[in-house]
Amino acid sequence: GADRTKNVLILMSDTGGGHRASAEAIRDAFKMEFGDEYKIFVKDVWKEYTGWPLNNMENQYKFMVKHVQLWSVAFHGTSPRWIHGVYLAAIAAFYAKEVEAGLMEYKPDIIISVHPLMQHIPLWVLKWQGLQKKVIFVTVITDLNTCHRTWFHPAVKICYCPSEEVSKRALLDGLEQNQVRVFGLPVRPSFARAVLNKDDLRIELELDPVLPAVLLMGGGEGMGPVKKTAKALAESLFVNETGKPLGQMVVICGRNKSLASSLESLEWKIPVKVRGFETQMQKWMGACDCIITKAGPGTIAEALIRGLPIILNDYIPGQVYELKKMSENALKLAQPEAVFDIVRDVHDLAGQRGPLADMPYALTSSFSNLI
Ligand code: UDP
Repeated sequence: GADRTKNVLILMSDTGGGHRASAEAIRDAFKMEFGDEYKIFVKDVWKEYTGWPLNNMENQYKFMVKHVQLWSVAFHGTSPRWIHGVYLAAIAAFYAKEVEAGLMEYKPDIIISVHPLMQHIPLWVLKWQGLQKKVIFVTVITDLNTCHRTWFHPAVKICYCPSEEVSKRALLDGLEQNQVRVFGLPVRPSFARAVLNKDDLRIELELDPVLPAVLLMGGGEGMGPVKKTAKALAESLFVNETGKPLGQMVVICGRNKSLASSLESLEWKIPVKVRGFETQMQKWMGACDCIITKAGPGTIAEALIRGLPIILNDYIPGQVYELKKMSENALKLAQPEAVFDIVRDVHDLAGQRGPLADMPYALTSSFSNLI
């Protein structure tokens, strides 16, 4: 009946940290707003169901950010729609069956994509399944100004943009005005809503209770000149005359294990904590006094919401823009309620669609069986 629990499938990928963080933000906001009305699945469908190159997206991304030049070529080289269209169509035909099984397993009423490469193939699958009109497909963009064009697909119900700039690009790329909404970047409610006390956090995280603390990080992959910055910072936070530190430092290396082990092997003159991938970033931000990071939109929005001054020490292609514009945009990003606006809007869409029960989710007349 109309009251049954609706399934929401969130499509993400563990490239960087931003896509997963946004997926978790949406999941948590759904739970807080609507409780059991929705069942949320956060899935890296490509990783689970398909072969190369899709399930290798993470490693390709890691490889490419390490070779920035290459990343730049890939980023700009695949921009014309016909190029990525042909590429994705080829992959789609090849992996259709697996992706289809991956999507259908969760019997989604609503699909939310938070990844630039997760529009085309799922939308094709829905079309082949004749489910285009029954399943609500929306995109939540988690990128800023230099958005890759694969984010924009004219067949989505709604494309949620983090800023006006991004929404203008969506319109230029063929989306209709009524498909585009701007609420801001989704940030996990644990950053916006939790009341965190700095003194308590310092005890919990075993930091010095009084020394000012700098948080140093490089996104989910621990990218950028983290080691160089850490060394320079440790030097300047140590006073030779007195032999005492002026501050302490927390370095969060994300999934970069070699960075973590190389930092751990160094001798430090000031108190330093080296950490790997942290699942409770809000606590580390709450315990520190400022942050030094690459220009990742997720980290910047979170730091702003927690009121941390930000120093940017790096960028990767696609995250390049002038500093002034950057800080203006960053201020606009600090919208802790954005994620709640997004889930309420999706809820309204689901309500307008009426009961979604008894959907024909059989894998009978699928395209993949024909090829
Ligand atoms: N992050 C995390 N744990 C870590 C490192 C990063 O949860 O150890 C999160 C961070 O809080 C942010 C995201 O990963 O939400 C990084 O996103 P951003 O857009 O800054 O950069 P990306 O890694 O996606 O390039």
